[in-house]
Amino acid sequence: EDDPHTGRRVLLKLSGEAFGGGQVGLDPDVVRGIARQIAAGHRAGTQVAVVIGGGNFFRGAQLQQRGMERARADYMGMLGTVMNCLALQDFLEKEGVDTRVQTAITMGQVAEPYIPRKAIRHLEKGRVVIFGAGAGMPYFSTDTVSAQRALEIKCDAVLMSKHGVDGVYTADPRTDPAAKKLDTLTFSEALSSNLRVVDAAAFSLCMDNHLPMLVFGMEGEDAITRAIKGEKIGTLVTA
Ligand code: UDP
Repeated sequence: EDDPHTGRRVLLKLSGEAFGGGQVGLDPDVVRGIARQIAAGHRAGTQVAVVIGGGNFFRGAQLQQRGMERARADYMGMLGTVMNCLALQDFLEKEGVDTRVQTAITMGQVAEPYIPRKAIRHLEKGRVVIFGAGAGMPYFSTDTVSAQRALEIKCDAVLMSKHGVDGVYTADPRTDPAAKKLDTLTFSEALSSNLRVVDAAAFSLCMDNHLPMLVFGMEGEDAITRAIKGEKIGTLVTA
């Protein structure tokens, strides 16, 4: 029943913010479009695991600024990511893709617990595995979790999709009109120039373990499909 997938294995990070279509909550049309793109990339033979953020619901740091205790607010952020996972699972299954959701906070009625070796088995059987609830630990971001999961399940690359920016620039393109987009970059350059497009912790995990990271914009018809297929888009960050 499952197609064996023998191609390369990637970890795709999707920002939660994109799932909201600019608002708090979920925009099903956006999720459907993302699912179609993932399905197309997956059909071409790549093994795909996904980590989704939760910025469309809650960000712990923002709730902390409004007076909440940070760790509790972070748990709310993690629970938000799970709703995004279920929405993506639904639309992927409608595209005919077999999926499993695994969460770092156990919730047996909703998803499997995170079991890395089982995740690898699902990927080999041609299922898309969606990781929810981040690392299950406060003070972490889903960018960092993406690098960690990619390493643990032995991915060939992390594909960091970004919302509103299509790669790594020499400066912040929103504030500096002279900022130029880079095709390639090393992790140490990214860290030393303090480019905040991806968390420093994610860059440094990838650097220490020689895991390539593609930073690309998720806007457009087929950016996610192209990234999954290994086409040249965005910025490739390597050791
Ligand atoms: N979060 C956390 N630990 C994790 C992953 C996420 O505490 O391992 C919380 C944190 O509060 C974060 C929120 O979940 O702000 C949503 O994740 P993130 O901000 O990374 O989502 P994105 O910006 O990608 O939508």
